[in-house]
Amino acid sequence: MTPRTHKRALRNWINLSATGILSAVTACAAQPRHAPRSPQTAAPDVAAQETPVGPPIPAESSADVSAGTPRPASEATRAAHAALREVYPFKDQQDFEDARRGLIEPLPNDGEIKGAAGQVVWSLRPYLEYIKQGERAPETVNPSLWRQAQLLMINGLFEVVPGVYQVRGADLSNMTFVEGTRGVTIYDPLVSAETAKAALELYYAHRPKRPVVAVVYSHSHVDHFGGVRGVVDEADVKSGKVKIYAPAGFIENAIAENVYAGTAMGRRASYMYGNLLPVNAQGQTTAGLGVTTSSGQVTLIAPTDLITQAEEVRTIDGVRYEFLNAPGSEAPSEMMWYLPKYKLINTARRATMSARCTTSTSATSMAILRTSTRCRPPISRPSTWRRSADPTRCWRPVARPCAKASIAGAPR
Ligand SMILES: [Zn+2]
Repeated sequence: MTPRTHKRALRNWINLSATGILSAVTACAAQPRHAPRSPQTAAPDVAAQETPVGPPIPAESSADVSAGTPRPASEATRAAHAALREVYPFKDQQDFEDARRGLIEPLPNDGEIKGAAGQVVWSLRPYLEYIKQGERAPETVNPSLWRQAQLLMINGLFEVVPGVYQVRGADLSNMTFVEGTRGVTIYDPLVSAETAKAALELYYAHRPKRPVVAVVYSHSHVDHFGGVRGVVDEADVKSGKVKIYAPAGFIENAIAENVYAGTAMGRRASYMYGNLLPVNAQGQTTAGLGVTTSSGQVTLIAPTDLITQAEEVRTIDGVRYEFLNAPGSEAPSEMMWYLPKYKLINTARRATMSARCTTSTSATSMAILRTSTRCRPPISRPSTWRRSADPTRCWRPVARPCAKASIAGAPR
């Protein structure tokens, strides 16, 4: 692909996204737009390709599958789920305590967020009605996925530490706010402009209404940049008032996955996340990695500042960020950061506070290392994962447990 080809593709994509015509995008998600129900789902995250733990679940016969009607759990499914209950420490409630810590306010109106035409682009309501805290998994649902879904229902605005806040449950991903000397820096502005705007409004309802002075994209998947126009005016970016930071290769890879391969990735996402299924025990029980993806307007503003070095220090709005590039890991263009001031590490999708390393929790992507971190083991590309995880040891002593865990796949 030549630079000219990329430039043309970027221009076309930005034009399409600005007019809402974009038909498919890829992320830790890529979603078919205008699907029959809302919210829609997104495309594949490498995370979801984990090898399952526990005994294999026998395949159903092709005759059963072709019937196409919801059925109760078979004997084989019940046995497999019962075996899983012996494998995982379901009595351990630490993840729930961690996910609830710092809650300021749940999302208003059961998380329902509407677009300009009044259409619902996001809602937690069907999930909240179905997934209840403390209840045992339905027989048709993998108990580990059920537990993860219960964690994902813990939503709203959270204080990670004083000065750092996070909105969870307003889209597939979380949006983080880091307060600086002049205003606030937003990290990963969700999938859609509507959900990102709503998340910012929830933050402003509880924190001083200071301007957004910078945005950081952690990686080239759409759930980490698609809502940027909901929180930033492009004119302010062009004038230099607002800076946008991204890892090296961000635009090239965002286009490659979201435009060139967008349709195929969107289709794969539908199969993987079950986004066209109804939300119930015989349909979809969240996307695992997150609840699902929003169906609002996907947008993009090109970065103004690229993090090109393996390790790079920047001061953004008076806050020191130690960036660590992690290309070729969960996304082809991806980076993590460490904030010494707060002793916080944000690992994007590469390591998460996780339900025994199954997938990300509602506290995804933000770990306070001085307490504990449960990291996801390497999945599809162990060598690249390890290459970029190793340098996190330089963040010791706080980061050391994370780096070791992510390499070894050991919980806590
Ligand atoms: Zn991703």
